[in-house]
Amino acid sequence: MGNVEITSMKAADINHVLSHIYDTVIQNREGALADYIPELAKVDPNIFGMALATNNGKVYSIGDLETTFTIQSISKALNYCIALELMGSDVVFERVGVEPSGDRFNAIEFDPRTLRPYNPMVNAGAITIAGLLYDRLGSEAYEYILDRFSQAAGRQLELHEGVYRSELLTGHRNRAIGHLLLSAQAIEEPVDAALDLYFRQCSISVNAMDLAVIGATFANLGQNPITGRQVFDMTAVRNTLSVMFTCGMYDYSGNWAYDVGLPAKSGVGGGILGIVNRQLGIGTFSPRLDTNGNSVRGLASFKILSDEFGLHAFDPTNRGSGLVSHFFDH
Ligand code: GLN
Repeated sequence: MGNVEITSMKAADINHVLSHIYDTVIQNREGALADYIPELAKVDPNIFGMALATNNGKVYSIGDLETTFTIQSISKALNYCIALELMGSDVVFERVGVEPSGDRFNAIEFDPRTLRPYNPMVNAGAITIAGLLYDRLGSEAYEYILDRFSQAAGRQLELHEGVYRSELLTGHRNRAIGHLLLSAQAIEEPVDAALDLYFRQCSISVNAMDLAVIGATFANLGQNPITGRQVFDMTAVRNTLSVMFTCGMYDYSGNWAYDVGLPAKSGVGGGILGIVNRQLGIGTFSPRLDTNGNSVRGLASFKILSDEFGLHAFDPTNRGSGLVSHFFDH
């Protein structure tokens, strides 16, 4: 397909691009399901779904939107945003940096210069954020974040009990990280409560449309464009999107910023959440992962979408910057 000229685009063109993406990626059977948490391997590997939600509340989709999957590491972006809002960026920054780590998401290490986790998108940083949220909210913390995630998605979300139990049974490495954080005084007791919040936040079920609407809420300065509710604070959104841009896609973050050029976050459940600032939320779900832990088909879909519509933040034609007003509005 050639690049789409936005001045002449109509809804039919969006659906045409989505069909093209579907036809291209559905043939791709590369990658493997995450199985280090046994329950994660119990999904149909062939599922693919993609949804777009605009900052004026229109939605477009293709493929499977019914099947839910666990949000996993995508939760790290939402919880970071909530922590920034509740505690302010100075307090959060003292505990968790904003520098890409260049290491695997579950690496047992801190930034040697600061002795704190590199960023909130790796497990050490996310568990520290969970500790901060637990300190602030106590035993209500999980209900509180579930409510905020649900407001962002525009519907009541739920915990996947099976995945949660599986995380609890197999989360030894995360427990080790939690105790290391405790010994470094990066988090406070009770460390088990921080870990429990982390395991729960990863086990919240969503579908591709939920991710698109969460993305649109970020894109729309924190206000859910479908429900009209202000969910996140604007400054916290800005800071969260910055870290998603530099650290959101595991060890592929640099390549992603180069190729796709959007703030995004992926999870080992097979979801990817992407944002076109002030314009669009994008959600994909397909569970086969590449060696970095990113959904193979999700990644391919984002590349095509970004190219077709000129969504890359530094696209020389700047076509994508008028996407919603020129195209999705008609
Ligand atoms: N539950 C996962 C873990 O920490 C979350 C990881 C992810 O999506 N990378 O092991």
